[in-house]
Amino acid sequence: MEILCSVCAHTNRRGVLFCTTCGAELPVMKDAPHLLVLYGFDRGRTILIRAPSMTLGRDERNDIVLRDPAVSSRHARICFDGRKILIEDLQSRNGTRVNGEKIQTVSELKDEYLVKVGNTLLRVIEPDPEHSPRYELISNIPAEPLSRMLDR
Ligand SMILES: [Zn+2]
Repeated sequence: MEILCSVCAHTNRRGVLFCTTCGAELPVMKDAPHLLVLYGFDRGRTILIRAPSMTLGRDERNDIVLRDPAVSSRHARICFDGRKILIEDLQSRNGTRVNGEKIQTVSELKDEYLVKVGNTLLRVIEPDPEHSPRYELISNIPAEPLSRMLDR
């Protein structure tokens, strides 16, 4: 997915915060939510949520691989249609909790929600340039290193 600059019409790679041609701010953070590992083996890691569907688990074949032994090999699925982020437990051994509650059906994830899989705690970060104070912080970081971090 690419982002069109509204100033110079240059097509920018997803994950870039500023247009690589004219330097204009891009509305990228709004459609690039991510998960931050708050606690667990992968603590501090940032996981970019990409459309449309990603599986999460301990097995290397998952889109999101967590090293936590309490995470099932195929634990949960996260879907993102560009607006809504949804999570579904894939009959994992220890279940998936959203804000402390074990989910039984497909659940929607919103900014600041906490997701627990095994012993790993993830925070949903859905930055909104208009409402999130975090965006100020993010926009002070040069675009390139950050986009590399998000793509990791
Ligand atoms: Zn531009």
